[in-house]
Amino acid sequence: MIEEIRRAGPMSTARFMALALGHPTLGYYAGRDPLGAAGDFITAPEVSQVFGELLGLWLGQAWSDCGKPDPCLLVEPGPGRGTLMADLLRAAGHVPGFRPSLRVHLVETSERLRDLQRARLAGETVHWHATLDEVPPGPMLLVANEFFDALPVHQLVATGHGWVERTVDLNEGELAFGLADRPSALARSLPEASSVLSQIAEVSPMRARIARLIGRRLAMHGGVALIIDYGAWAPQVTGDTLQAVRGHAPCPLLDAPGKADLSSHVDFRALAEAGRDGGAAVYGPVPQGPFLRAMGIDLRIARLLERATPGQRRDLRAALFRLTDASAMGELFKVMALARPGVPAPPGFAAPTLLPESA
Ligand code: SAH
Repeated sequence: MIEEIRRAGPMSTARFMALALGHPTLGYYAGRDPLGAAGDFITAPEVSQVFGELLGLWLGQAWSDCGKPDPCLLVEPGPGRGTLMADLLRAAGHVPGFRPSLRVHLVETSERLRDLQRARLAGETVHWHATLDEVPPGPMLLVANEFFDALPVHQLVATGHGWVERTVDLNEGELAFGLADRPSALARSLPEASSVLSQIAEVSPMRARIARLIGRRLAMHGGVALIIDYGAWAPQVTGDTLQAVRGHAPCPLLDAPGKADLSSHVDFRALAEAGRDGGAAVYGPVPQGPFLRAMGIDLRIARLLERATPGQRRDLRAALFRLTDASAMGELFKVMALARPGVPAPPGFAAPTLLPESA
């Protein structure tokens, strides 16, 4: 990274993020298993199998509402350890005809995580891809949990001479933040910089491109996508949400590239607009807690409690709290669905939030 800055000059925060996370040998995802109690952060599927099971039943209902396409692609970008996919597939077995119709496609850049996914999904026929573009066409159910937050964002700073890119530069040999010397072309849809001086806006062409691609595929071939992440329907000027986490605690962003997880709040407005531009109807986002409650998480936990040991009971109650309580993941995490216009609203959602103009 330091060599690249010496050679090519200051880099954008997006380039910094892409390298720190995705560098094939030095990147964060190349070197370690980031997930779970022993890792740096824990995700909903790692908190409890109930999360994936409920989403599996949700997908079964969505599949029925789409006319039970067979074959149907089950696509997961950023599958981590493969835990969510394993839980989804187990629950899918309870919906008649659903399981045999599914063709599993994972989008994963990290070889290290691909190995963990292979082990977790042993016995399944699984196709891996480096990008979503490589997944073959066809009706698709897509699930992305904590995928978009890891995709690179550019940070722009409002200055007296317009929106300029915040850069990662060198100061006496150490990484340090800087500012680009001319206005950025990424600021097109932002308000006048002079009206919000010194504020930061995060813009992610990569996130938008992938959401647009998902929307386009759903519009062309049918299906539904479920996107779950931390973030909100953000104001145009999002503020600085880029963060580094190591060993379950925040750490300074530039301290240890490749050794800390980097992510930023997902701007659901930007994802929704891109998905709509791709041709999909957008539902939500709704907070994760109420969504899981509507999917019957209380009942499912109650069933499991009936035959649990005291230790398991404690774990189940803790998982329910963690996934649904507003002080844990229940409010910060949001759930948004994209679907081909004209199919019934996906389970747990009311009328669309956004519709393509042609619909
Ligand atoms: N969904 C999982 C893991 C979240 S961690 C869970 O909920 O537990 C983020 C995942 O996205 C990892 O699997 C990481 O390797 C993957 N990832 C990050 N950037 C990616 C990219 N550009 N393309 C494909 N996968 C990516």
